[in-house]
Amino acid sequence: MGGYGRQARGCVPFYQMPIKIIPHGAAQEVTGTCHEIQVWKSGASKPRCRFLLDCGLFQGQRTEAAIKNASFNFQTADIDAVVLSHAHMDHVGRIPLLYKRGYRGPVFCTYATKDLSEVMLKDSGYIQEKDEEFFCKHLSKSMLKCDGPLYTQKDAEVCMRLFQGVNYLDWFTVCPGVRAQFLDAGHIIGAAMVVLEIEDEPASSTGLRGSGGRTRRVGFSGDLGRPLLPIIRDPSSMPPVETLICESTYGNRKHEDVAIAKIHLKEVIERTAKRGGKLIIPAFSLERTQEIVYDLHLLWDAREIPAVPIIIDSPLASRVTDIFMKHPECYDRTMFEDFLSRAHNPFQFSLVRYTESVEESKALNGTPGPMVIMAASGMCEAGRVRHHLKNEIENERNTILAVGYMAENTLGRRIVDKTVYEVRIFDEMYRKKAEIVSLDAYSGHADMIDLDSYVTRVEGLRTLILVHGEPHQMEPFAKRMSEKMRVEVTMPMREEEIVL
Ligand SMILES: [Zn+2]
Repeated sequence: MGGYGRQARGCVPFYQMPIKIIPHGAAQEVTGTCHEIQVWKSGASKPRCRFLLDCGLFQGQRTEAAIKNASFNFQTADIDAVVLSHAHMDHVGRIPLLYKRGYRGPVFCTYATKDLSEVMLKDSGYIQEKDEEFFCKHLSKSMLKCDGPLYTQKDAEVCMRLFQGVNYLDWFTVCPGVRAQFLDAGHIIGAAMVVLEIEDEPASSTGLRGSGGRTRRVGFSGDLGRPLLPIIRDPSSMPPVETLICESTYGNRKHEDVAIAKIHLKEVIERTAKRGGKLIIPAFSLERTQEIVYDLHLLWDAREIPAVPIIIDSPLASRVTDIFMKHPECYDRTMFEDFLSRAHNPFQFSLVRYTESVEESKALNGTPGPMVIMAASGMCEAGRVRHHLKNEIENERNTILAVGYMAENTLGRRIVDKTVYEVRIFDEMYRKKAEIVSLDAYSGHADMIDLDSYVTRVEGLRTLILVHGEPHQMEPFAKRMSEKMRVEVTMPMREEEIVL
């Protein structure tokens, strides 16, 4: 663990320890978010309430992630509830496994997160099954064991019965004496930050606020977004809380301005179209694809881009886009002004086409440019985008536009790395002759300026717990906050208990 500021921990007597926070993931790393909150009663031998903030998949290096994903460091039957911040896999992706291991409590989330979780988890179940099939085939001649997929599509389907939709701002009871509220996180559609009010001693088992006990307030940022992203509302401020569990993905980095994104997008399309080339955009099916289609629609309405076909080659993106249209409660004002007030669907216009079948996708290979092809996955590790990259990366008329975070050891990272001239795709080497452009203005995460402003505005803050960040991003953020504010800042390791 690392820490700055006041030392509020150590040998505190048990009766003064009513709340424990245990990060089971996303501790000094960016995936596997799962923070357990235990609420204790004075003198009791076990917690009176235990719940999870998110239950996500670990991602990254295959073997290491598989080991971390396979087991929970708690008994699933001991958990009373899950409060889910949003539908990204590193936050929701282990809920089917939780169900498979016997958890039957509620999963509270916003309505949009519930709908998105259904398609994202089913897709994840499919990937787990395929992944296992491939793994077992290649293990057949070795002595290693083939354990079956982490979970199946069917597991993903049945776990949805636990999900309970809640409106933003409505208070709901997590367990007796603990209530919560979702606020806009401005990260992806449906994403929420969480405010918790925890009674020291609940007055009754109804979960209503007690009259005698002190109320403690704990905040969880979830993944904090940025102001001015298309479609969704900007992040809310965190109301007064004593303790804040805060993400720190970009605690030491500043993003390009959101307003720049559309200008760069226009320039790169114009340039590629002039060459008669194809613009390949590897993009996550959830949010990034919809934001770019939204901007392309605005650019086309203003006739600021040439009339080139725009192909969204991702069945998952199509399903996610349908869900976007079902949740106007998440939209910002400009979404209404730009499109809905004119009865226009932002994701449908004359240039755009969504493909479904593999045949349609393959046919794009023989179709001459100019055209724009957007396909998953965002980091080029899976999905149809790899086929397009293989076919198009050696043609200097084409452009590859990276719009999201490319983690280390991914094909996406090697493509944007200027010191790498050849990349391996499907076991063959290809020369990077296409123009490569990186644009981080579409990032869905707060940068260091946003994070500083978010945390310093929290009234009454005493303890800041930094999660969801790698040390080189988290530590400078921790240092800044402990200098600017009178708070204890901690950067817990996985499974390290924080006692409030
Ligand atoms: Zn996220």
